[in-house]
Amino acid sequence: MTTQRIHNFNAGPSALPLAVLEEMQKSLLNYKGSGMSVMEISHRSHWFDEILEDTIIRIRRLLDLGPEFDVLFIQGGASLQFAMVPMNFLGQGDSADFVDTGTWSSKAIAEAKIQNKTVRVVASSKDRNYCYIPKSMAFDPQAAFVHLTSNNTIKGTQWHGFPDTGQVPIITDMSSDILSRPMDMTGIGMIYAGAQKNIGPAGVALVIIRKDLLERIPETLPTMLSYKTFAQNNSMFNTPPCFTIYAIQLVMTWLEDTCGGLDAVGKVNGEKARLLYEVIDQSTDFYTGTADKDSRSLMNVTFRLPDEGLEKRFVEEALKHEMGGLKGHKSVGGCRASIYNATTLYSVSVLADFMKHFEAKHG
Ligand SMILES: *Cc1c(COP(=O)(O)O)cnc(C)c1O
Repeated sequence: MTTQRIHNFNAGPSALPLAVLEEMQKSLLNYKGSGMSVMEISHRSHWFDEILEDTIIRIRRLLDLGPEFDVLFIQGGASLQFAMVPMNFLGQGDSADFVDTGTWSSKAIAEAKIQNKTVRVVASSKDRNYCYIPKSMAFDPQAAFVHLTSNNTIKGTQWHGFPDTGQVPIITDMSSDILSRPMDMTGIGMIYAGAQKNIGPAGVALVIIRKDLLERIPETLPTMLSYKTFAQNNSMFNTPPCFTIYAIQLVMTWLEDTCGGLDAVGKVNGEKARLLYEVIDQSTDFYTGTADKDSRSLMNVTFRLPDEGLEKRFVEEALKHEMGGLKGHKSVGGCRASIYNATTLYSVSVLADFMKHFEAKHG
């Protein structure tokens, strides 16, 4: 079994830890002696109560969250969050500040505009196809929130520390870098993240929300579109995506017990990114990183080769050597290696070696 698995550099859904997959496999027919699959148990059973509770406790511990935060699970992925954030937090006369750092930020902005909400784009890196994180911007101290995309999965850029927004809460899309390193919660009002990159399989968004923000939410929203519903019912107003949450529990257990928490995970992730950027920087006109050096993502390494023919060949030959998922997003072109938590340092070192050989052969 194990030997048939490739080095997985998919952007999302993406690699899951092997130990997690094996544990899931064991639970498919008879979960903890229940005589039922983990997919067949009731979401109101003590088995699922324990899964949900333990998952939340582990997320709190990993991120060192204080009691002022709620941890929620909401279906609809990160894309539904683009719509729910303005719906819940932008009332009549309110305005929000957005920083536009790529495809996902732009989509978040578009969802606010569809609802006729007042949006200020305070900075954008669109002028250079989003290859950097803007350095200077002036926030409106009266804004309801500031929206930032923490890691730009497609463009390969990442905020390495959030700006000071004063009293204005930051709402951040961390779909592709949540739990990849320790997190400073100062200034954070809310985090959301689609599960399928760094948390587990697809099917849910993790939402971490500061409780005082719940008070701002109007009563007029449809039940399933209000964060209050999820907060008041511990994400169990209706049937949650039980299996996805179970898988998340296993990933959180792996992060704590096998990896040793986010300090350790962050070090390994830094080393993984360093290996690949080193190959790119040492190459002479063969590999070119698409992101400015000071804005580079530690999760999605984007690069180009001298021409599209070579890029195609690179992806094909990599696959022959059991490395998958290296084709870049169509809006950037080129290649992309997504190196989330579950992609091992070993897999990344295999890729780095392959890149060097490929350059020696074709450069
Ligand atoms: C993948 C991704 C999304 C979209 O997530 P869905 O769960 O598919 O809606 C949004 N934002 C970022 C940063 C992403 O990487």
